[in-house]
Amino acid sequence: MKIFLQMLTMGIMLLSFGKGLRAGMLEDVMNGKATVIDMTYPLNEKNAYWPVGPYTPFKYEVIANLRKDKVFSGKYSTPEHLGTHIDAPNHFEEGMPSVDQIPFEQLIGTAVVIDVTDKAGKDADYTLSPSDILLWEKDNGQIPEGAIVLLNTGWSKRWHDYDNYKNFDKKGSMHFPGYSKESTSFLVTKRNIKGIGIDTLSGDCGISTDFIVHHTINSARKFILENVANLDKLPPKGATLIIAPIKIEGGSGGQCRIWAILPK
Ligand SMILES: [Zn+2]
Repeated sequence: MKIFLQMLTMGIMLLSFGKGLRAGMLEDVMNGKATVIDMTYPLNEKNAYWPVGPYTPFKYEVIANLRKDKVFSGKYSTPEHLGTHIDAPNHFEEGMPSVDQIPFEQLIGTAVVIDVTDKAGKDADYTLSPSDILLWEKDNGQIPEGAIVLLNTGWSKRWHDYDNYKNFDKKGSMHFPGYSKESTSFLVTKRNIKGIGIDTLSGDCGISTDFIVHHTINSARKFILENVANLDKLPPKGATLIIAPIKIEGGSGGQCRIWAILPK
C-alpha cells in the first residue's frame, strides 16, 4: 500500500511537471530553438514597493571596490515585497507555506495571459471578471491544469514613473487594476491553477482594503507574482514560466527571477 501511494505521488508529480515543462524544452533554449523572455525588472532604488508604513525603498551600497580594495562587493537591503516578487501562501494566511517552502513543481507552469489593457486603460479601478476569463477560454480553450495565470493590465507603461504607477488620489487611495474576488474564486475552485501574476503593485486592485484576492489565493496554498515585467511580449498561451524566488527561511515572499520560454 505504501509503495502504491509513493508511486501514485510520483506519478502526480511527474504529471504536474510535464504540464509545465515539455521534455527537451531546456535543450531547445540551449540550442537556440526557443526564445527566453525575462519577466523581471532589474532591482534598483527606483523600484516599486508597497508605499505604506514601514516599507522602504531598495538600497544598495558598495562596500569594496576594485581600485581601492582589489575586489568589488556590495550590500543591499529591501522589503520582501519590492520589485518583481512573489507573495508566498503565508503572506495573508496562517499555517501556509513560506517562500522557501514553495515546491519547485509549483514554480513552473504554462503561462495563461489575459489581456485587459483596453478596459484598464479606461478604468484604473478595473478588476478582472469571470466573463473575461471565459472570453479568453472561448478563443484559447479551457485554462490548462497547472497553469499560472498572468493579467496584462498595461500598467507596465507606468513602471518608470512611480507616482503614476501607484496613482494616489487626493484622499490617499491608490488606483490601479487587479483581480476580483469572483475571478480569483473561479480560478481556485473551477480551474486547477498554480498561482497568479500581474503587472501592478498587487493582485488586489489599488482601492482594495480587504485584500480578498490575496486571502483567496493564499488560503488555496497558491502564490501571487507582482510587478511582473514584459507581459505584453507574451502570447495568450504557449509560453512556459520558470519562477526562481529568493530562499528566505520563513519569509512571506521575496524577489524572484521569472523567465518565460517560448518555442520559436
Ligand atoms: Zn507582495
